[in-house]
Amino acid sequence: MLLGQEVVAVKNAHGPAHVSTPAGTHSFDRLVVCAGLQSDLVAKLVGASPSPAILAFRGEYWVMAAERSHLVNGMIYPVPDPRFPFLGVHFTRGVYDDVRVGPNAVPAVAREGYSWGRVSLKDTLASLGWPGAPALARKHWRMGVREISASLLKPLYFRQARQFLPAPQPSDLAAKAGAGVRAHAWDADGSLLDDFAVDRLGAVTLLRNAPSPAATSALAIADHVLEHYLRIARHPLP
Ligand SMILES: Cc1cc2nc3c(=O)[nH]c(=O)nc-3n(C[C@H](O)[C@H](O)[C@H](O)COP(=O)(O)OP(=O)(O)OC[C@H]3O[C@@H](n4cnc5c(N)ncnc54)[C@H](O)[C@@H]3O)c2cc1C
Repeated sequence: MLLGQEVVAVKNAHGPAHVSTPAGTHSFDRLVVCAGLQSDLVAKLVGASPSPAILAFRGEYWVMAAERSHLVNGMIYPVPDPRFPFLGVHFTRGVYDDVRVGPNAVPAVAREGYSWGRVSLKDTLASLGWPGAPALARKHWRMGVREISASLLKPLYFRQARQFLPAPQPSDLAAKAGAGVRAHAWDADGSLLDDFAVDRLGAVTLLRNAPSPAATSALAIADHVLEHYLRIARHPLP
């Protein structure tokens, strides 16, 4: 097993795929690429179509004040709104018994934009220059303004969270609690893909959109890729 090695080139002509990292080149009869936020860049290395590309959305959390966390005993989720790809702020009791409130969905200004301080001009210009950018902006600008405002102003974030709690107070949100970045695929027409995007090109299978709940459903996705793209029959666990 090779871990912690960046794939910098892939040769995918006929026969096996040749994968290069700074430490050397390895050949594989079949290759499955699951590169998250980098998946469109690795797809380019493989020679695949540039579409769908990846748009980064940061999901920020607040942690709930310990003395108020008894209000949340399990998960509190909103009913999904099919017009939007993201669920909206919800409440999750974690394995350390703390309660997290979030995530929101803020357009990130860097591919690995885990905070407002992480800015990449290159990534931002690439997103703004994507053919579908004007269409997406026209369709979702209100949501964008709302999410950016709630990221910068706690009272607006609190407003999103308050609908789920009895007698909420702004101080229920005690502190910011980290963030993750979603790798969301978008097409050249500006649409955000709702479903998983899998392409096959010679020996290489590319997974380019694996939105939530792709972590929860990772084993089912692996089965799907094995059966439908690699044609390997699944052997159920005893
Ligand atoms: C805030 C937030 C909340 C979420 N909540 C949920 C949830 O409640 N339930 C759920 O199921 N899912 C959730 N998700 C989604 C889930 O995290 C993703 O769907 C899942 O991580 C996608 O898995 P992946 O393997 O495709 O990508 P990733 O987990 O991003 O893995 C990609 C890997 O590829 C590596 N890589 C990239 N480029 C290269 C390269 N050139 N060479 C070598 N390695 C490379 C990266 O280092 C990384 O390790 C959430 C995501 C976010 C951001």
